[in-house]
Amino acid sequence: MAIFDQYAMQDPRTQYPKAQGHADEQQPDPALDAILKPQADHGEESYCGANRLRGRKALITGGDSGIGRAVAIAFAREGADVVINYLPSEEVDGQKTLNMIREAGPKAIAIPGDITDEKFCKTLVQQAVEALGSIDILVNNAGKQQFVEELEDLSTEQFVQTYTTNVFAMFWITKAAVPHMPAGASIINTTSIQSYQPSPGLLDYASTKGAITAFTKSLAKMLVKKGIRVNAVAPGPIWTPLQQSGGQPDEKLQQFGNKVPLGRAGQPAEVAPAFVFLASQESSYITAEVIGVTGGEHLP
Ligand code: NAD
Ligand code: MG
Repeated sequence: MAIFDQYAMQDPRTQYPKAQGHADEQQPDPALDAILKPQADHGEESYCGANRLRGRKALITGGDSGIGRAVAIAFAREGADVVINYLPSEEVDGQKTLNMIREAGPKAIAIPGDITDEKFCKTLVQQAVEALGSIDILVNNAGKQQFVEELEDLSTEQFVQTYTTNVFAMFWITKAAVPHMPAGASIINTTSIQSYQPSPGLLDYASTKGAITAFTKSLAKMLVKKGIRVNAVAPGPIWTPLQQSGGQPDEKLQQFGNKVPLGRAGQPAEVAPAFVFLASQESSYITAEVIGVTGGEHLP
């Protein structure tokens, strides 16, 4: 499933197929793109790049698969040096992404590790700075999502793990990175439509996304005096391993994305250009903003 030219005009409703009811195989968490069925499109065949990020240094969490992989490919093809982080159990996906960004030419480095560990978050940033020289673009994209039907089934362990991955790690990495970010740098967080339209089965996840949205806007105002912009991208339903590893119950997975106005789930390749825009100087007058990539489910 791939398009072959990011600029070819076409009907967005049929650019990618609808979920057909066969996308229902669950994987253990964290899931792998390597066994995602059907496969997702990360822009491998279509993303062209036009030097919009030439010479920039980027750190992307969750850069092995899904939205993070598409962002890594796009940034590299726009000329950025890229460090990706992911969990050690995702090495197969991480290596595939690395190979693709190396083909684009710029520097590509993997620093695997668990970002729920504050010490590791500091090490990650330190190693990224040693490898790249600075951090011009920070993409806080790693995330955890587990669907739970009832309140009594939502364990303290899951609640803490979701908040640590989605919120605390973003704080730890950002705090460590900002001293290495020059004026003109850009921080981009991955929030979600769930920040605005929370589903009942995603109580922990949706509330972390609400926190990410508020964190983004508050931090943006705090970092204006350093000339650093802070924005977020809010995806709607995007076909990634996250959804196939307990992110959605089986019956929702089979119809995943079909209820949004455009009538289908989005692909990671369709989300990455919003990150490129927010990372580049083209968005110089945009900070404290959230860009929705939702198939028509508008943000408030
Ligand atoms: P994904 O599974 O491909 O990416 C999530 C990544 O998070 C994993 O690849 C993993 O590397 C990383 N991660 C999770 N726990 C980690 C940990 N403890 N340490 C280090 N890395 C860890 O799925 P995705 O959908 O591309 O998710 C990327 C982001 O997009 C997430 O923040 C997610 O909440 C957000 N998002 C996704 C959707 C969607 O429909 N897929 C919608 C809105 C927002
Ligand atoms: Mg992954």
